Amino acid sequence: CGVFGIFSKESVAPIIYYGLVSLQHRGQESAGISVSNGDYITEKRGLGLVDEAFKDYEIGSLKGRLGIGHVRYATFGGGTLINAQPLTFNCRLGNMSLAHNGNLVNAVEIRKQLEQQGTIFQTTNDSEVIAHLIARSTTDDLEGAIVSALSQIRGAYSLLILTPDKIMAIRDPRGIRPLVIGNLDGDFVVASETCALDTIGADLVREVEPGEMVIIDESGLTSNKILTGKKNAFCSFEYIYFARPDSEFQGKNVHVVRKNLGKILAKNYPLEADIVTGVPDSSLSAAAGFAEQLNIPYEMGLVRNRYIGRTFIKPSQENRITGVNLKLNPVKQLVKGKRVVMVDDSIVRGTTSKRIVSLLKKAGAKEVHVRIASPTVKYPCHLGIDTSSKGELLANKKNVEAMAKAIGADSLAFLTEKELYLGIGCKEGLCTACFTGEYPVPVKSESKSK
Ligand code: 5GP
Ligand code: SF4
Ligand code: MG
Repeated sequence: CGVFGIFSKESVAPIIYYGLVSLQHRGQESAGISVSNGDYITEKRGLGLVDEAFKDYEIGSLKGRLGIGHVRYATFGGGTLINAQPLTFNCRLGNMSLAHNGNLVNAVEIRKQLEQQGTIFQTTNDSEVIAHLIARSTTDDLEGAIVSALSQIRGAYSLLILTPDKIMAIRDPRGIRPLVIGNLDGDFVVASETCALDTIGADLVREVEPGEMVIIDESGLTSNKILTGKKNAFCSFEYIYFARPDSEFQGKNVHVVRKNLGKILAKNYPLEADIVTGVPDSSLSAAAGFAEQLNIPYEMGLVRNRYIGRTFIKPSQENRITGVNLKLNPVKQLVKGKRVVMVDDSIVRGTTSKRIVSLLKKAGAKEVHVRIASPTVKYPCHLGIDTSSKGELLANKKNVEAMAKAIGADSLAFLTEKELYLGIGCKEGLCTACFTGEYPVPVKSESKSK
């Protein structure tokens, strides 16, 4: 998911709209905006991409100088309107609205307890648990109630809470999901990624620290360290796949990191080939790095149809037009008779690689070698990225040789965890659990429901 918030001197709904559009890659299932006019919160949520969710809606009718927004990628609970965020509610502590990126690993457990005590849930998403815990707290101040709620939940959360007169931005104690602070002509902005700051013309101030609660109100920004004592575990998949290449985390540009990963892959798993191609769009940076390192021409071996949205109807099994055929087409003249290296960012189920190898071979490629700019994904993510259940992961069932066979590649190589750290440019402080199984937070399998 993606979150965005701003406290301004002027009406914020249009700014939030564009902030969300620039975070669209983080979630396409639903979008929503909540604003406060100083007294109370109004909201609008809808299904689909941001422009679909706000189609035929007068954005100016959301009046207020402070507000938050959310784009949703369902990792918990279905992709229905009822689960769209921000989630707005009233409780003893007032009117508030909540936008959450991440996944809680003990939400099922807490929800069961709360339901047994009579709590009525409106949604099936894990974020509502946070709302109930805040509402039930016996503390009289909101900050205290939030701290008490957060001390009961475990997992990944970058959280924005809007009240009638302030925005609170909180990052879980391990900093698993990103959250950055920006400055737009003296106004404070918070967003999942720096690309959203660039889009609206804001400057990056810094990241919200793991375990920090930043409060933005009329008087500016204040910081509270509310949850401490945990090791940082920023999601390495943000660098590998999820984030936009023009964003930066911890001072490192995502495109540059991906290019580095491609270079390391080339250095440590070299081969002779005629062309290198990426799989648009997610692996283009890594493919460029790979080609540069081995001095092999980088070619646009695959062209993507950019108009295939999520709305397209999947053809039936018997239909020869598969999803990948519609989405990607090899450039035959480029690949015919050539030894092709196809660089992708990751293999999850193996569906994409298998189809692309077959497309390239049908287009006349003499050999297709696959290089993956991340380690083998062997374990499911419980922390906010949909990497499938364990049984569906190709690397969980097969070693690299068997995987190569399964996808039809002439050779296949992955990075190691160490090479991943090297490419990102740090020694520690990353989550790599989907590769190693060492989760930064104790997990139970029930926390994952797709
Ligand atoms: P596979 O086809 O092996 O299941 O998935 C790998 C492909 O999907 C890669 O091309 C990668 O760019 C993309 N991918 C990796 N992780 C994710 C994810 O969490 N969600 C989605 N929708 N795609 C992913
Ligand atoms: Fe990211 Fe993988 Fe950790 Fe999930 S398990 S938070 S995808 S590194
Ligand atoms: Mg891809």
